[in-house]
Amino acid sequence: MKTVRSDFEILKKTINNQPLTYLDTAATSQKPNQVLAAIQNYYLKDNANVHRGVYTLSEQATQAYEDARTKVGHFLNAPSARNIVFTRSTTESLNWLAQSFGPGQVEAGDEILLTYLEHHSNIVPWQVLAQKTGAKLKYVGLTEDGQVDLVDFADQLTTKTKIVSFAHVSNVLGTLAPVKKMVAMAHEVGARVIVDGAQAVAHLPVDVQDLDVDFYAFSGHKVYGPTGIGVLYGRTELLEAMEPAQYGGEMIEKVGLESSTFQPAPWKFEAGTPNIAGAIGLGAALDYMQELGLAQVSDYETDLMEETVTKLLAIPGLTLYGPQNGHDRYGVAAFNLAGVHPHDVATILDQEGVEVRAGHHCAQPLMAYLGLPATVRVSLGVYNNSADIDRLCAGLHQVREYFA
Ligand code: PLP
Repeated sequence: MKTVRSDFEILKKTINNQPLTYLDTAATSQKPNQVLAAIQNYYLKDNANVHRGVYTLSEQATQAYEDARTKVGHFLNAPSARNIVFTRSTTESLNWLAQSFGPGQVEAGDEILLTYLEHHSNIVPWQVLAQKTGAKLKYVGLTEDGQVDLVDFADQLTTKTKIVSFAHVSNVLGTLAPVKKMVAMAHEVGARVIVDGAQAVAHLPVDVQDLDVDFYAFSGHKVYGPTGIGVLYGRTELLEAMEPAQYGGEMIEKVGLESSTFQPAPWKFEAGTPNIAGAIGLGAALDYMQELGLAQVSDYETDLMEETVTKLLAIPGLTLYGPQNGHDRYGVAAFNLAGVHPHDVATILDQEGVEVRAGHHCAQPLMAYLGLPATVRVSLGVYNNSADIDRLCAGLHQVREYFA
């Protein structure tokens, strides 16, 4: 990915007089010029509200917005663009499912099955659903190296399990869930499966039909697109049956004084003026990914992750969590340095221009499961290279010297 760096203007910036080494793509990715140009071009040339006007400019804006939906559909290999709902984020997609799909799917005594790897966005909405309906929340354990424990998964799946929801890729350990196997096992007991793809889409090709998932959620900003735009893929019949989570303009067909009728899916879910520029920016980001080649991105990042893990493990006193190799992790490596608080590590690295995350990574139940208060986390994007990893490791050596 040598030529990629020049597409990201921000990487020319210095931080504390040092070159910016951005290693927090799992929190949000940087945006290439192509995405920024698409957003600017929309506001400069096509800006109008969508689905409303019969005039040319509105039709052009509508076309651009719906083209973005088509691009997302192709990116996920959905059967049609109509399986793609635009939301604000992964968090909103999951909340809408818990609020609108959940109540028809679970009742008192039923079970919702998650794993210990989940981000808070894939825990809290289900907790609230369970509290409201009397359903029970259950969590699948992990293997030694942080993979979903399929034996425990099989044990915990029962005919009472109605919803199974889990991360495609863990935002802390970087492990990849065996989605196809889990979906097949969950479908066997009649459960519906929701996959949180927030950490997957930037790192590997996703085919929702091949995975056979019922719903798939992701955020635009983690895949080189803008913030404020997210995606909910759903199976046709499930989206058709699901109630909207919000009501208002755009999503209606006809409004009377007492009642109203709604548009078909996906439009019935998109109440009010949508994030048109965000959708167009996301479309441009997915075009960018396709041009780089998803398989090439994946290969490049796997090699860089191998190098990262090897170099990290060579640092005395460093404990890496999850797989002890690069090829079993996607984009993320969380670790601690003996005797140093992760916040101190991140603060000292920042002095060197190296931007990493420290904390619980919005995964407190996972931290408790691993017996850790916090970790340092580095995460990779297409623009990272060996020089970034060398700067990270040089910074970590400085941290060790400082605390020696
Ligand atoms: N799920 C996972 C696995 C994540 O890593 C994140 C964000 O870090 C989210 C969900 C929430 O994403 P967002 O804040 O874009 O809604």
